[in-house]
Amino acid sequence: MLYDYPVKSICKELADLGIGQFPLVIGTVYGIKPLFDTWIPIQAYNKLKSACKNYNLLCQPDCMFVEPTKKELTTSIGARFLTTTKFKGLPFDPNRKEGMVHVFISRYRKSIFNAHRFGWYPLIIRKRVIDKPFIDHLRFGEVLGYPNCCIEFFNSFNKFGMSTPYESYKKTKGALSYYCNNILNHIGYSYIHHHPCSFNCKKTIDIAKQTEEVIMEKEPEYAHEIRKALKLPIINFAEKISYVFEGRTKNGYLHYSKFKFIGHPRDDKYRIKFCQGNRIKVKDDEIIIYNDKKLVQTIKKKRPFDGFLLEFD
Ligand SMILES: [Zn+2]
Repeated sequence: MLYDYPVKSICKELADLGIGQFPLVIGTVYGIKPLFDTWIPIQAYNKLKSACKNYNLLCQPDCMFVEPTKKELTTSIGARFLTTTKFKGLPFDPNRKEGMVHVFISRYRKSIFNAHRFGWYPLIIRKRVIDKPFIDHLRFGEVLGYPNCCIEFFNSFNKFGMSTPYESYKKTKGALSYYCNNILNHIGYSYIHHHPCSFNCKKTIDIAKQTEEVIMEKEPEYAHEIRKALKLPIINFAEKISYVFEGRTKNGYLHYSKFKFIGHPRDDKYRIKFCQGNRIKVKDDEIIIYNDKKLVQTIKKKRPFDGFLLEFD
């Protein structure tokens, strides 16, 4: 199955730490991306810090994220307005035994300084959701090197009750470029992390191409693997809920042999249904699954973006 390519040489010491969104780490090492932020388990923090040193990168902790209890999520003031990142924030403490550390990695001291000012997430702190002002989203996007057009887009369309990938899709004129495929970023196969203002945003393509060139030069096998993965058909249900299919679309049908779920295991609702088929028709109001000619399952949709097809070229 795809998506288990082991990095052999490029930035190997960092790859061995299992950091997600690895092409972005490479972009940061080679100065294409000014700053990278990620979450790592507290146990891996010291290793990451020393690996970064070997690549001339600065690595600084921000805060720690701990999963809130169900009660905290439902009783915290404002929790229902959180979109996808739902964690309880605590100050960084190297002696803590569990939790994830939010870290900033960059070649530049100034980027780290600005990341501390603007790079925070809406969090539950003392039973209240602390939301982030609009301007900090804009500024953090700049610190991360996102194109301006995409920062503006994110601030207009990353809202509760909306599908950001669907908004990017609607704004795409012509073919979807695989350079702009951000859906696979959590399994290490995207060149970008931001939501592109369209799936063929020129500025995004420029950045992604530079990273691809570096990987193509240092470890071509990896670059080819990434390209192959980014071009596979995807059915997206929400920002962090997608299924990627080994297969292709033909005459309006998605033909597949295997698939992979991308997201938190609790959201993997359609595995059993997709397992039963080998051909899918995606419509605005339903998804129909066939096994050869026989209809085996349907998934009813309330909105067009509750499972829509994306195929990048
Ligand atoms: Zn853009």
